[in-house]
Amino acid sequence: MENYRLNEKDTAKLLKNCRLGSPLYIFDTVTSTFDKIKEYPRLEGLTVAAKIQTAGRGRLGRSWSSEEGGVYFSFNLTPDVSPEEAAFATITCALGTVKALREYGSCSIKWPNDIVMNGKKICGILTTMTTNGSKLDYICVGTGINVNKDSFDESLPHASSIKLETGREQNENKVLASVLKSIEKVYTSYTKERILEEYSENCITIGSDVTVHYTDGRGDFTGKSLGITESGALVVQNGNNTVTVGSGEVSVRGLYGYV
Ligand code: ATP
Repeated sequence: MENYRLNEKDTAKLLKNCRLGSPLYIFDTVTSTFDKIKEYPRLEGLTVAAKIQTAGRGRLGRSWSSEEGGVYFSFNLTPDVSPEEAAFATITCALGTVKALREYGSCSIKWPNDIVMNGKKICGILTTMTTNGSKLDYICVGTGINVNKDSFDESLPHASSIKLETGREQNENKVLASVLKSIEKVYTSYTKERILEEYSENCITIGSDVTVHYTDGRGDFTGKSLGITESGALVVQNGNNTVTVGSGEVSVRGLYGYV
């Protein structure tokens, strides 16, 4: 019988010839895969996954609820780029992820780093980079995917899982392998122009009215989001002006299906 639960043997089999996920280490419980991967060499492709995180992290110091039924993983990338260019990894990985997850249902990217299915958040991506002086040392990409979760805490009204949205239990190994393969394809074979074009086509934020909330207390404004810049920042109309907002300074609201 097919084993739908996350395990090294089945995922590794599906990842044959893939650089991401090689090597792959899967744990039952970790504090966070970000913490765990630091115990290993910083090799490109090395991946740590877990069934449960007790201290999963989100953007801007938020937490990522990581109970059983999700797939949580981090992997290392060592591109030969400057730290400024490395910020583009979030855009690259979000595109790779949405391309894989749309095999399961109608998915889009909520700028910069979330994947929504039928207007509900099923996945979050977080990238961190480590520098050595002015040079990039490595990027760590962390992802949490709500695969087979049956319910969410009432504090997460916009969250859902692939199982809840499709009405079917999913093979967690297939989800992990197809996301890693898809990110690898985008990362290794797409030009920057193609990534920006496809990201924009798959991003529900672009063209929508959004509320930009500055996390440093500068206040909020509402306007239509027009597109993303070459570095992945969001361009929003604010009255007669256009404003460029970076992912590290704002949270964009007003995009979930029923908000
Ligand atoms: P958003 O704009 O959706 O509130 P964000 O992009 O600003 O989120 P993220 O780091 O992507 O921030 O996600 C963290 C937030 O996502 C948390 O504050 C919480 O609201 C929500 N969240 C936490 N765990 C989950 C989960 N497992 N599934 C869906 N949403 C979650």
